[in-house]
Amino acid sequence: MTEHTKTDGMPELDVPAVPQVLERARPRSERMAADKIECNACPVLCQISVGRTGACDRYANRDGVLVRGDPVYLLRRTLAAEDGRVVPFVGRPAAAGESEAAAGADWDGDLLHANEVFVTGVGASTTYPDYKPAPFIVRSEADGVDMVTVVTEGIFSYCSFKVKIDTDRYLGPEQANVRCKGEVVGHVTTAEYGSQMLSLGGVHHLTGGSKKEGRVTCEMMQALGNKQAVELTIDGGSQLVIQAGRAPIVNGVEEQRMRVGCGSATVGIFAKQFYGLADEVVVVDDHITGVLTEHQAGRCLDMRRSGIKMRGRKSTPGRYFQVANPGTGWGGTDIADPLSIVDGWDAELAWPGLRLLMTSTTGEHASYYVLDESLTPREQEMPAALRAIVERIGENCEPSLTTVLFLGGAGGSLRAGVTENPVRLTRSIKDALVNVTCGGAPAYVWPGGGITVMVDVMRMPDNSFGTVPTPAIVAPIEFSMRLEDFRALGGHMDYVRPLEEVLRRGAWHNEGAPSARRWLPLGAANPWPLGRAPLLG
Ligand code: SF4
Repeated sequence: MTEHTKTDGMPELDVPAVPQVLERARPRSERMAADKIECNACPVLCQISVGRTGACDRYANRDGVLVRGDPVYLLRRTLAAEDGRVVPFVGRPAAAGESEAAAGADWDGDLLHANEVFVTGVGASTTYPDYKPAPFIVRSEADGVDMVTVVTEGIFSYCSFKVKIDTDRYLGPEQANVRCKGEVVGHVTTAEYGSQMLSLGGVHHLTGGSKKEGRVTCEMMQALGNKQAVELTIDGGSQLVIQAGRAPIVNGVEEQRMRVGCGSATVGIFAKQFYGLADEVVVVDDHITGVLTEHQAGRCLDMRRSGIKMRGRKSTPGRYFQVANPGTGWGGTDIADPLSIVDGWDAELAWPGLRLLMTSTTGEHASYYVLDESLTPREQEMPAALRAIVERIGENCEPSLTTVLFLGGAGGSLRAGVTENPVRLTRSIKDALVNVTCGGAPAYVWPGGGITVMVDVMRMPDNSFGTVPTPAIVAPIEFSMRLEDFRALGGHMDYVRPLEEVLRRGAWHNEGAPSARRWLPLGAANPWPLGRAPLLG
């Protein structure tokens, strides 16, 4: 790896009298050595010697020219399988069996192929200072309509990851700090149905704490966004290893199942199947424990009340809250013995020989009891027919996964790379005139002010995320719209270039960066970013 350039904090800014578009990096001041060049792709403004990279490893000084070290990722709609080859920027995708040299030949201007190409923001370079037009403003045609895609690598100080962890196991109290390498990098947020939720990263941890907190947060966010495993600990809770698209590991145990529903829902779903095989069924759940014969489902089946007395707080018939403490035992509680949540039996209602099934919401834990003459539950081997229903509960559980969504604020200065009148971009997005994608993956734009986008990192190309030491996250973003809408919102029309030219020459600024490109197929789950709805109606 190339040696990093040392940076001594933030150098002073030399603000030109008249804003100008920098065609290429150049020496910044007399104090800077002649063989160094200044990278102005982020506020750090590294002074990079020949043969070295800047502090983020993304830019390098190659023989006096600032180059973007990573290839630009281009999506090719009809690429059959993951290609992944890096080729010189001047060229076209290699056909099957074609040599690298041939692939490096000039783009042949084949519009049929050009219409199948989408330039992503991964490796695209950055708009900084913000008055510069984006590195790629690409004109292409989709379904006979002239389109423009504005492509950049955004530098996000305001961004975070929302993580959904499919597990009943208790990870920690809501609002508890989440730590990485001892630093606070986020918190536990509101649990959802069958999932625990974390909010990680964000401007508070990137900028509001110590330097180390910011650095660790940034590294953690980059790894998480790039689909790598991250180790976390939760204050007063569990230790976690999470990775997008993989099962979470809680306290060293890989989670298997996401519950079929809460205890009450599970009672409702399987009530008819339990009927005749058990006289009472308790589905243990940290949140809502279900009791069949009291539950509406049992009443509808005209089941005889069992007289079971439950611990916890009764909500509605057959639904109990707080039967135990949260934990990693049965149904996300801390219990190992299910009978510990049974307070006793009403002798008026219960009877010797009563058959009791207790199960967790995933079917991972299940026990079968029969009441003896003193109305004491005695564990017995579970009948096969009842075991089959417990197994069906497990069968109906989905595989436990970790889902990682990137949430970034693109409503700031980044917009100036698109238009001289940034609010028009915001309005055009709200009016559904602009399709926002991140690395070609569809982004959900939050209602309300600004451009707050949310995207599933699993739908983005691998290694889409980078960092700069400000600290902030680097993430790809693309804005696609009709050419006429781009003109109407005050877009940088002088910088619009046909796709064929973009493929020949690379980014608009400096001759060397970016120096290479990588062809990728469109993700199977993703629509073509220049597709019909909503842009083309
Ligand atoms: S940290 Fe990276 S992007 Fe920022 S100035 Fe240095 S080399 Fe350029």
